Amino acid sequence: TTQTEAQLIGKHEVLPNYIQRGKFSHKGEFGHALIIGGSYGKMGAVTLASKAALSAGAGLVTAYIPKCGYQILQTALPEAMVITDVNKEKITAIDFDITPTVIGFGIGIGTDEKTLKAFKSFLKSNKSPLVIDADGINMLAKKQDLLKLLPAETVLTPHPKELERLIGTWENDFNKLEKVKAFSNTYKVIVVIKGANSITVFDDTLYVNTTGNPGLATAGSGDTLTGIITGLIAQGYHPVVASIFGVYLHGKAADIAVENYGYQSLLASHIIDYLGEAFIDLF
Ligand code: AMP
Ligand code: MG
Repeated sequence: TTQTEAQLIGKHEVLPNYIQRGKFSHKGEFGHALIIGGSYGKMGAVTLASKAALSAGAGLVTAYIPKCGYQILQTALPEAMVITDVNKEKITAIDFDITPTVIGFGIGIGTDEKTLKAFKSFLKSNKSPLVIDADGINMLAKKQDLLKLLPAETVLTPHPKELERLIGTWENDFNKLEKVKAFSNTYKVIVVIKGANSITVFDDTLYVNTTGNPGLATAGSGDTLTGIITGLIAQGYHPVVASIFGVYLHGKAADIAVENYGYQSLLASHIIDYLGEAFIDLF
Protein backbone atom coordinates (compact mmCIF):
# COMPACT_ATOMS: atom_id res chain seq x y z
CA THR A 1 0.00 0.00 0.00
CA THR A 2 1.07 3.57 -0.64
CA GLN A 3 1.44 6.42 1.79
CA THR A 4 -1.41 8.91 1.53
CA GLU A 5 -0.99 12.50 2.53
CA ALA A 6 -3.98 14.72 3.29
CA GLN A 7 -3.85 18.50 3.39
CA LEU A 8 -6.52 20.96 4.46
CA ILE A 9 -6.71 23.83 1.96
CA GLY A 10 -7.43 27.34 3.21
CA LYS A 11 -6.16 30.82 2.41
CA HIS A 12 -2.64 30.19 3.74
CA GLU A 13 -2.21 27.13 1.55
CA VAL A 14 -3.34 28.76 -1.71
CA LEU A 15 -1.72 32.17 -1.21
CA PRO A 16 1.90 31.12 -1.99
CA ASN A 17 0.72 29.92 -5.43
CA TYR A 18 -0.94 33.21 -6.36
CA ILE A 19 0.49 34.68 -9.59
CA GLN A 20 0.89 38.45 -9.35
CA ARG A 21 -0.20 40.55 -12.33
CA GLY A 22 2.53 42.98 -13.43
CA LYS A 23 1.99 46.63 -14.31
CA PHE A 24 2.96 46.07 -17.95
CA SER A 25 1.08 42.81 -18.47
CA HIS A 26 -1.19 42.34 -21.47
CA LYS A 27 -3.90 39.81 -22.22
CA GLY A 28 -1.61 37.68 -24.37
CA GLU A 29 0.17 36.57 -21.18
CA PHE A 30 -2.98 35.11 -19.63
CA GLY A 31 -3.77 32.49 -22.18
CA HIS A 32 -6.66 31.56 -24.42
CA ALA A 33 -9.24 29.25 -22.86
CA LEU A 34 -11.55 27.24 -25.11
CA ILE A 35 -14.83 26.01 -23.64
CA ILE A 36 -16.34 23.17 -25.68
CA GLY A 37 -19.90 22.24 -24.79
CA GLY A 38 -23.58 23.00 -25.05
CA SER A 39 -26.56 21.54 -26.86
CA TYR A 40 -30.09 22.76 -27.57
CA GLY A 41 -31.54 24.06 -24.29
CA LYS A 42 -28.24 23.91 -22.41
CA MET A 43 -26.41 27.00 -23.60
CA GLY A 44 -26.53 28.56 -20.14
CA ALA A 45 -23.93 26.07 -18.91
CA VAL A 46 -21.41 27.19 -21.54
CA THR A 47 -22.19 30.85 -20.90
CA LEU A 48 -21.56 30.40 -17.17
CA ALA A 49 -18.32 28.47 -17.68
CA SER A 50 -17.00 30.97 -20.25
CA LYS A 51 -17.81 33.91 -18.00
CA ALA A 52 -16.22 32.17 -15.02
CA ALA A 53 -13.04 31.52 -17.05
CA LEU A 54 -12.82 35.22 -17.91
CA SER A 55 -13.51 36.24 -14.31
CA ALA A 56 -10.80 33.86 -13.10
CA GLY A 57 -8.38 35.86 -15.26
CA ALA A 58 -8.06 34.12 -18.63
CA GLY A 59 -6.81 36.56 -21.28
CA LEU A 60 -9.18 35.33 -23.98
CA VAL A 61 -12.07 32.91 -24.00
CA THR A 62 -13.65 31.20 -26.99
CA ALA A 63 -16.77 29.04 -26.71
CA TYR A 64 -17.16 26.16 -29.18
CA ILE A 65 -20.87 25.42 -29.38
CA PRO A 66 -23.59 24.13 -31.72
CA LYS A 67 -25.02 26.73 -34.12
CA CYS A 68 -28.21 27.29 -32.09
CA GLY A 69 -26.13 28.92 -29.35
CA TYR A 70 -24.41 31.55 -31.46
CA GLN A 71 -26.63 34.54 -30.70
CA ILE A 72 -27.21 33.44 -27.13
CA LEU A 73 -23.50 33.39 -26.32
CA GLN A 74 -22.63 36.56 -28.20
CA THR A 75 -25.47 38.43 -26.50
CA ALA A 76 -25.09 37.05 -22.98
CA LEU A 77 -21.31 37.35 -22.95
CA PRO A 78 -19.83 39.99 -25.29
CA GLU A 79 -16.36 39.39 -23.84
CA ALA A 80 -16.21 35.86 -25.30
CA MET A 81 -15.58 34.76 -28.89
CA VAL A 82 -17.59 31.98 -30.46
CA ILE A 83 -16.87 29.18 -32.92
CA THR A 84 -19.81 27.07 -34.01
CA ASP A 85 -20.03 23.40 -34.88
CA VAL A 86 -21.49 22.38 -38.25
CA ASN A 87 -24.54 21.00 -36.42
CA LYS A 88 -27.42 23.15 -35.19
CA GLU A 89 -28.35 21.42 -31.95
CA LYS A 90 -25.38 19.40 -30.75
CA ILE A 91 -21.66 19.06 -31.22
CA THR A 92 -20.68 16.62 -33.94
CA ALA A 93 -17.32 17.76 -35.34
CA ILE A 94 -15.05 19.67 -32.88
CA ASP A 95 -13.20 21.50 -35.62
CA PHE A 96 -11.49 24.81 -34.78
CA ASP A 97 -8.55 26.84 -36.09
CA ILE A 98 -7.19 28.31 -32.86
CA THR A 99 -4.47 27.02 -30.54
CA PRO A 100 -5.99 27.13 -27.06
CA THR A 101 -3.82 27.21 -23.94
CA VAL A 102 -6.35 24.93 -22.26
CA ILE A 103 -9.72 23.39 -23.08
CA GLY A 104 -12.69 23.02 -20.71
CA PHE A 105 -14.82 20.21 -22.13
CA GLY A 106 -18.21 18.65 -21.59
CA ILE A 107 -20.70 20.95 -19.91
CA GLY A 108 -24.17 20.71 -21.41
CA ILE A 109 -22.76 18.73 -24.33
CA GLY A 110 -25.00 15.64 -24.07
CA THR A 111 -23.92 12.06 -24.78
CA ASP A 112 -25.27 11.57 -28.31
CA GLU A 113 -23.44 8.93 -30.38
CA LYS A 114 -22.29 11.59 -32.88
CA THR A 115 -20.94 13.75 -30.06
CA LEU A 116 -19.14 10.73 -28.61
CA LYS A 117 -17.52 10.01 -31.98
CA ALA A 118 -16.40 13.63 -32.29
CA PHE A 119 -15.01 13.48 -28.73
CA LYS A 120 -12.95 10.39 -29.60
CA SER A 121 -11.36 11.86 -32.73
CA PHE A 122 -10.77 15.13 -30.87
CA LEU A 123 -8.91 13.26 -28.10
CA LYS A 124 -6.74 11.47 -30.67
CA SER A 125 -5.38 14.72 -32.11
CA ASN A 126 -5.63 17.08 -29.11
CA LYS A 127 -2.46 18.68 -27.74
CA SER A 128 -3.98 21.09 -25.18
CA PRO A 129 -4.37 20.49 -21.44
CA LEU A 130 -7.93 19.47 -20.57
CA VAL A 131 -10.51 20.07 -17.88
CA ILE A 132 -13.40 17.62 -18.29
CA ASP A 133 -16.76 17.90 -16.54
CA ALA A 134 -20.37 16.77 -16.70
CA ASP A 135 -21.32 14.90 -19.91
CA GLY A 136 -17.62 14.85 -20.83
CA ILE A 137 -17.15 12.62 -17.77
CA ASN A 138 -20.31 10.67 -18.61
CA MET A 139 -18.92 9.91 -22.08
CA LEU A 140 -15.60 8.75 -20.56
CA ALA A 141 -17.59 6.52 -18.21
CA LYS A 142 -19.58 5.09 -21.14
CA LYS A 143 -16.49 4.47 -23.31
CA GLN A 144 -13.69 3.73 -20.87
CA ASP A 145 -11.15 3.08 -23.66
CA LEU A 146 -11.14 6.87 -24.18
CA LEU A 147 -9.46 7.30 -20.78
CA LYS A 148 -6.07 6.27 -22.13
CA LEU A 149 -6.28 9.10 -24.69
CA LEU A 150 -6.36 11.77 -21.97
CA PRO A 151 -3.20 13.85 -21.62
CA ALA A 152 -1.40 13.45 -18.28
CA GLU A 153 -2.68 15.88 -15.64
CA THR A 154 -6.12 16.21 -17.20
CA VAL A 155 -8.53 17.57 -14.58
CA LEU A 156 -11.82 15.68 -14.03
CA THR A 157 -14.48 17.35 -11.86
CA PRO A 158 -17.22 14.78 -11.16
CA HIS A 159 -20.18 15.30 -8.85
CA PRO A 160 -21.15 12.15 -6.89
CA LYS A 161 -23.31 10.61 -9.66
CA GLU A 162 -20.69 11.26 -12.35
CA LEU A 163 -18.00 9.79 -10.09
CA GLU A 164 -20.08 6.66 -9.58
CA ARG A 165 -20.51 6.23 -13.34
CA LEU A 166 -16.74 6.61 -13.74
CA ILE A 167 -15.38 4.34 -10.98
CA GLY A 168 -18.42 2.30 -9.89
CA THR A 169 -20.03 2.25 -6.45
CA TRP A 170 -18.10 2.38 -3.18
CA GLU A 171 -18.72 0.81 0.21
CA ASN A 172 -17.76 3.80 2.37
CA ASP A 173 -15.79 7.05 2.22
CA PHE A 174 -12.46 5.31 2.80
CA ASN A 175 -13.13 2.87 -0.02
CA LYS A 176 -14.24 5.75 -2.28
CA LEU A 177 -10.95 7.59 -1.75
CA GLU A 178 -8.94 4.40 -2.37
CA LYS A 179 -10.79 3.86 -5.64
CA VAL A 180 -10.28 7.47 -6.75
CA LYS A 181 -6.56 7.31 -5.89
CA ALA A 182 -6.17 4.13 -7.92
CA PHE A 183 -8.07 5.67 -10.86
CA SER A 184 -6.00 8.85 -10.66
CA ASN A 185 -2.75 6.86 -10.62
CA THR A 186 -3.78 4.60 -13.50
CA TYR A 187 -4.66 7.43 -15.87
CA LYS A 188 -2.40 10.14 -14.35
CA VAL A 189 -5.41 12.43 -14.00
CA ILE A 190 -6.38 14.95 -11.33
CA VAL A 191 -9.78 14.11 -9.84
CA VAL A 192 -11.79 16.79 -8.04
CA ILE A 193 -14.38 14.94 -5.95
CA LYS A 194 -17.11 17.59 -5.68
CA GLY A 195 -19.43 17.95 -2.69
CA ALA A 196 -19.25 19.68 0.69
CA ASN A 197 -15.48 19.83 1.38
CA SER A 198 -14.46 18.91 -2.16
CA ILE A 199 -11.32 16.78 -2.34
CA THR A 200 -8.72 17.10 -5.10
CA VAL A 201 -6.83 13.83 -5.62
CA PHE A 202 -3.49 13.49 -7.37
CA ASP A 203 -0.32 11.48 -6.83
CA ASP A 204 -1.59 9.86 -3.60
CA THR A 205 -2.26 13.24 -2.04
CA LEU A 206 -5.70 14.45 -0.93
CA TYR A 207 -6.30 18.21 -0.89
CA VAL A 208 -9.38 18.85 1.24
CA ASN A 209 -11.08 22.18 0.60
CA THR A 210 -12.40 24.24 3.53
CA THR A 211 -14.51 26.90 1.75
CA GLY A 212 -18.04 26.65 0.35
CA ASN A 213 -21.53 26.16 1.74
CA PRO A 214 -24.92 24.57 0.90
CA GLY A 215 -25.80 27.60 -1.25
CA LEU A 216 -23.58 25.92 -3.86
CA ALA A 217 -26.11 23.13 -4.23
CA THR A 218 -27.75 24.91 -7.17
CA ALA A 219 -28.04 24.65 -10.97
CA GLY A 220 -24.91 25.70 -12.85
CA SER A 221 -22.70 25.72 -9.76
CA GLY A 222 -20.36 23.07 -11.16
CA ASP A 223 -20.23 24.79 -14.57
CA THR A 224 -18.74 27.88 -12.93
CA LEU A 225 -16.12 25.70 -11.20
CA THR A 226 -15.11 24.20 -14.55
CA GLY A 227 -14.73 27.70 -15.97
CA ILE A 228 -12.68 28.91 -13.00
CA ILE A 229 -10.23 25.99 -13.14
CA THR A 230 -9.92 26.34 -16.94
CA GLY A 231 -9.31 30.09 -16.59
CA LEU A 232 -6.59 29.51 -13.99
CA ILE A 233 -4.76 26.97 -16.18
CA ALA A 234 -5.01 29.42 -19.11
CA GLN A 235 -2.97 32.02 -17.25
CA GLY A 236 -0.25 29.62 -16.19
CA TYR A 237 -1.30 27.81 -13.02
CA HIS A 238 -0.28 24.15 -12.99
CA PRO A 239 -3.40 21.94 -13.30
CA VAL A 240 -3.02 20.60 -9.73
CA VAL A 241 -2.69 24.13 -8.33
CA ALA A 242 -5.51 25.39 -10.56
CA SER A 243 -7.80 22.65 -9.24
CA ILE A 244 -7.02 23.32 -5.58
CA PHE A 245 -7.08 27.11 -6.00
CA GLY A 246 -10.19 27.00 -8.20
CA VAL A 247 -12.17 24.93 -5.70
CA TYR A 248 -11.04 27.27 -2.92
CA LEU A 249 -12.04 30.45 -4.85
CA HIS A 250 -15.39 28.95 -5.96
CA GLY A 251 -16.26 28.16 -2.33
CA LYS A 252 -14.95 31.46 -1.01
CA ALA A 253 -16.96 33.47 -3.55
CA ALA A 254 -20.07 31.56 -2.44
CA ASP A 255 -19.22 32.19 1.24
CA ILE A 256 -19.11 35.93 0.58
CA ALA A 257 -22.19 35.84 -1.68
CA VAL A 258 -24.44 34.07 0.86
CA GLU A 259 -24.05 37.00 3.22
CA ASN A 260 -26.26 38.89 0.75
CA TYR A 261 -28.28 36.12 -0.86
CA GLY A 262 -28.66 33.39 1.74
CA TYR A 263 -28.39 29.69 0.89
CA GLN A 264 -31.71 29.40 -0.94
CA SER A 265 -31.34 32.37 -3.28
CA LEU A 266 -27.70 31.98 -4.28
CA LEU A 267 -27.44 31.47 -8.05
CA ALA A 268 -24.47 30.15 -9.99
CA SER A 269 -24.03 33.56 -11.62
CA HIS A 270 -23.56 35.09 -8.14
CA ILE A 271 -20.49 32.86 -7.68
CA ILE A 272 -18.99 34.63 -10.70
CA ASP A 273 -20.11 38.06 -9.43
CA TYR A 274 -18.27 37.47 -6.15
CA LEU A 275 -15.13 35.84 -7.57
CA GLY A 276 -13.33 39.18 -7.47
CA GLU A 277 -14.01 39.53 -3.75
CA ALA A 278 -12.66 36.01 -3.21
CA PHE A 279 -9.39 37.06 -4.91
CA ILE A 280 -9.25 40.33 -2.92
CA ASP A 281 -9.89 38.44 0.34
CA LEU A 282 -6.54 36.62 -0.15
CA PHE A 283 -4.67 39.79 0.89
P1 AMP B 1 -22.53 20.36 -9.96
O1 AMP B 1 -23.30 19.28 -9.25
O2 AMP B 1 -21.74 19.86 -11.10
O3 AMP B 1 -23.36 21.55 -10.31
O4 AMP B 1 -21.45 20.89 -8.91
C1 AMP B 1 -21.87 21.45 -7.69
C2 AMP B 1 -20.79 22.32 -7.09
O5 AMP B 1 -21.26 22.87 -5.86
C3 AMP B 1 -19.51 21.58 -6.73
O6 AMP B 1 -18.42 22.45 -6.82
C4 AMP B 1 -19.77 21.15 -5.29
O7 AMP B 1 -18.58 20.96 -4.57
C5 AMP B 1 -20.54 22.34 -4.75
N1 AMP B 1 -21.50 21.93 -3.72
C6 AMP B 1 -22.65 21.25 -3.91
N2 AMP B 1 -23.28 21.02 -2.74
C7 AMP B 1 -22.51 21.59 -1.78
C8 AMP B 1 -22.62 21.70 -0.35
N3 AMP B 1 -23.66 21.17 0.32
N4 AMP B 1 -21.62 22.34 0.31
C9 AMP B 1 -20.58 22.87 -0.36
N5 AMP B 1 -20.43 22.79 -1.69
C10 AMP B 1 -21.37 22.16 -2.40
MG1 MG C 1 -22.25 19.67 -13.10
